[in-house]
Amino acid sequence: MKRIYMDHGATTPMREEVLEAMLPFLGEKYGNPSSLHFFGRESLKALDVAREKTASCLGCAPEEILFTSGGTEANNLAIIGVAKGSPPGKNHIITSAVEHHAVLDTVKFLGKSGYDITILPVDEYGMVSPQQVEDAITEQTILVSIMTANNEVGTIMPFEEIGGVCREKGVYFHTDAVQAIGHIHFNLQSQPIDFLSLSAHKFYGPKGVGVLYQRRKTKLEQICYGGGQERKLRPGTENMPGIVGLGKAIELAVANMPANREKLLRLRDQLIPGLLRIGDVRLNGHPEKRLPGNINVSVLFVEGESLLLHLDLKGIALSSGSACTAGSLDPSHVLLAMGLDHQTAQGSLRFTLGRDNTPEDIDYTLEAVRETAHNLRAMSPIYRK
Ligand SMILES: *Cc1c(COP(=O)(O)O)cnc(C)c1O
Repeated sequence: MKRIYMDHGATTPMREEVLEAMLPFLGEKYGNPSSLHFFGRESLKALDVAREKTASCLGCAPEEILFTSGGTEANNLAIIGVAKGSPPGKNHIITSAVEHHAVLDTVKFLGKSGYDITILPVDEYGMVSPQQVEDAITEQTILVSIMTANNEVGTIMPFEEIGGVCREKGVYFHTDAVQAIGHIHFNLQSQPIDFLSLSAHKFYGPKGVGVLYQRRKTKLEQICYGGGQERKLRPGTENMPGIVGLGKAIELAVANMPANREKLLRLRDQLIPGLLRIGDVRLNGHPEKRLPGNINVSVLFVEGESLLLHLDLKGIALSSGSACTAGSLDPSHVLLAMGLDHQTAQGSLRFTLGRDNTPEDIDYTLEAVRETAHNLRAMSPIYRK
């Protein structure tokens, strides 16, 4: 059976060029970059190159790049690290209700450990306004963490404006940009962002490696103890194959951004109208300010999980709500925060398109969704047409 992968928000297949760049570091180039001998120097050189590539793609200095084990760790390090490094009396952290759990649960953990936290509500599109952030900042605020683009519905936040408000108020701004890399251009030298998280496996790189960008002169306390790697902020022997793969993947993602965007927009503009034509389907997220490849819809009178499983049988891979909450039937916290009722939220499907998808894939998918929704609705006691 032909398999169609439309779950690039959960993870992406690694590019051939990335695998090729990594292979020597899974084989003959096994030196520890902390070692002084030939083997160590060889790895250290590759580590430096990956750091330089990453910095140049983000428009920052190599010293501002910290390699981590992924987006989750980068978010934890930024939030807990800033909280622990804050002066006495400064204990207020602001985030939003639609963040990834790697941010939301970290902030909630700090809330239970004596920090004062504010979780901002969002509008019907999943957006936080700069004014909301400004109004929430107090004398005690140390950090605002608002994602660049939402992983479930694709909404792009006004992150530069929010960062501007934070800068004006002398508050650190962290943004989870895991979904944004390869879709949104960053030039961190000129953007008011103090901390930014990214993860290689969301842009055709390997799993288990990410970056926390830390602006020079910001204060971050270590949350893990041991060696002196990554300026002591991420101790432990470096994941060399992963880091080399990340460097290659971000270089390709940034270079291919315009072409990839064009391609995704064409596919999206085929998929969205087709889905809406099925009837009783609503598009979730912002109508314009959204990631090109992310399409989240609620198929009314149908359960998202059932739809997902039936589509899987037809070879189509996607997710209902967030992959991270799949397995539980709790409706997505993002859709609920946007004001959807439980039933509409539970009927949600997320298509996240990628570079290998074709117009034929979209046609096949539309026909499959139409047929499956029709069959499931025919069995539904709540569906009256
Ligand atoms: C995938 C994702 C993460 C987690 O990244 P990992 O590298 O899988 O830990 C965090 N935030 C967002 C927005 C994501 O999409």
